[in-house]
Amino acid sequence: MTSDTPLIELSGIRKSYGGQAGEPAVEILHGIDLTIHAGEFVALIGASGSGKSTLMHLLGCLDRPSAGAYHFAGRDIADFGPDELAWLRREAFGFVFQGYHLIRTLDASHNVQVPAVYAGASVEERSARAAALLTRLGLGERAGHRPSQLSGGQQQRVSIARALMNGGHVILADEPTGALDSKSGVEVMALLRELAEAGHTVILITHDPQVAAQARRVVRISDGNIVEDTAGADSGAISGQASLDPAHFMEHLAQGVASGASWLADIREALGSAWRTLWVSRFRTLLTLLGIVIGVASVIVLMAVGQGTSEATLAKMAAFGNTHRMSIRPDTYGTRGLRGVLTEADVRLVREVPNVDIAMPFLTGSAMLRAGATDASAALWSMGHEGVRLFNWQLARGVFFSAEDEAHIATVAVLGKTVSDRFFAGQSPVGEYVLLNSVPFRVIGELAETGEPEGDNLVAIPFSTASRRVLGTPYPGLIQVKVHDPERINRTVDDIGTALEQAHRVRDFAVANNPARAKQQNDAAKQQSLLLALIAGISLVVGGIGVMNIMLMAVKERTREIGIRMATGARQRDIQRQFLTEAVMVSLVGGVAGLVIGLAIGAALIFWEVPVVFSIRAMLLAFGCAVATGLIFGFMPARQASRLDPVVALAGE
Ligand code: ADP
Ligand code: MG
Repeated sequence: MTSDTPLIELSGIRKSYGGQAGEPAVEILHGIDLTIHAGEFVALIGASGSGKSTLMHLLGCLDRPSAGAYHFAGRDIADFGPDELAWLRREAFGFVFQGYHLIRTLDASHNVQVPAVYAGASVEERSARAAALLTRLGLGERAGHRPSQLSGGQQQRVSIARALMNGGHVILADEPTGALDSKSGVEVMALLRELAEAGHTVILITHDPQVAAQARRVVRISDGNIVEDTAGADSGAISGQASLDPAHFMEHLAQGVASGASWLADIREALGSAWRTLWVSRFRTLLTLLGIVIGVASVIVLMAVGQGTSEATLAKMAAFGNTHRMSIRPDTYGTRGLRGVLTEADVRLVREVPNVDIAMPFLTGSAMLRAGATDASAALWSMGHEGVRLFNWQLARGVFFSAEDEAHIATVAVLGKTVSDRFFAGQSPVGEYVLLNSVPFRVIGELAETGEPEGDNLVAIPFSTASRRVLGTPYPGLIQVKVHDPERINRTVDDIGTALEQAHRVRDFAVANNPARAKQQNDAAKQQSLLLALIAGISLVVGGIGVMNIMLMAVKERTREIGIRMATGARQRDIQRQFLTEAVMVSLVGGVAGLVIGLAIGAALIFWEVPVVFSIRAMLLAFGCAVATGLIFGFMPARQASRLDPVVALAGE
């Protein structure tokens, strides 16, 4: 390769559009042969629709030809991968479009810096360079203005500065004066001429012969063919002044493709750029955030209220006694208000009813208790030996009384924790004697603390002994019942009622079906929390749809931005990183805000005495859903757009 290698060499380039989905393919370029050397100033002239822009997109590697070969500095670009093409766009070309194609959300300085960002230049380096370029183009004062705050001529000068940012060896200008008033047009043309004189290769597209006349070489295109080329007369290249030596240029390719900024600088840049974009479109950002915040906060609050209500009901249920337990008590009957009695025979009868696990007599009273020199009254609970199991008691010391003790009317007692502490002050009471209404009882056990005051301040003795020796009545006050299967408890209650009524011939008793009542309440609470969860789910979905809508609305505009970024040298992964950062930022901020607001509302509800129990699972679920929605709808469209050819993305469809 020598320095005579042409910079650009097209041979037999064809380009067709369509050809899929039954459309006929339309060929726009019919075999273009064109050679351009470094340092030339070429005008491509032709009528509107003759294929000039199409040709320029091919020259700038924004699009791929349908047929033919394109050699850049001697290398066939058909061999280039996406990253190498991005490198070429970034290092070799500088585009100036008729419609400027500036990024709406960036100010002039940052628009100019875009190509340098993708080249991995440091912030200091590139902002200094952008300032210098803008000053040189007479825009020093306007560096902080966004495109909407600049006139057409100023925007076009910003885009020229951007084209020069990485050197702008080859300036590709597509009707750069087309949208400008004549004064601005003259200025822009003067600039391009200056650049050509400074050694830049300038390829200028125009339909205006007066504009074309300013170039040193004019190539005329008509209906996709080159019909005239003044190259022979004056080849145009200003030898010795060319800023780009094709032979050396491509040597940096491999190195340049691989290099880039450090990942830390990349992340910093991505964060900064995401922040700027979100800030400039803050209304849209706010709407997106609102969707996420409402979704997350409502899930957290509603689930917490549901859970709280349900647990409050469970606590109430525990106060009734556990789900397996109920009791039968005597009741009044008949018109004269006679009161029934329950007997030990009734206990045996109930024991035979299906699903009954335990049925035992139960009678309470108070007794004078004396041990040593201490006297005090205590609650006396008399019961069957199954009492320890029915009440779920644990023994701290000794044993509970047995069926045998019961049968032998043994004078044995088991002390509750409080009683034991009062009379024996932490010493073991087992084996000691206490007087209960003057009857000596041997202490055989001490109950572990139950956590309920009334469960600790008692003396438990066999019912048989109590009825004969202490309380003086043969009748149990209650029959305590425990069932095997709480699901069948209603049936069991009916069976017990039938059996006892048959024996008594009157209904002189009542069965307190606490578990059924508790179960009903629990079911109601469950339904309520299910309903709340449903509403929470709906608000999450509605929030998600809101987010989706807003993000999809932005896709068209963002697609054009992606096209601009690719035209100025962004690789696919640069684009993806940027949009991912934005999506993560919005979803995380929204998710965290939703979490905080949800917790705050929950805390406020606690203040109003609404039962609230926060669930980590609900929080994770809501947060996860919100972040996933933000990521999917923020990132996926950008990912797809980054895979388009730059021209397609630029068209913004
Ligand atoms: P010029 O820039 O010379 O005015 P273009 O290169 O933009 O012309 O377009 C040349 C022809 O190609 C026109 O007829 C136009 O309709 C057609 N064309 C351009 N882009 C597309 C496209 N993406 N799909 C189909 N036809 C296209
Ligand atoms: Mg055009």
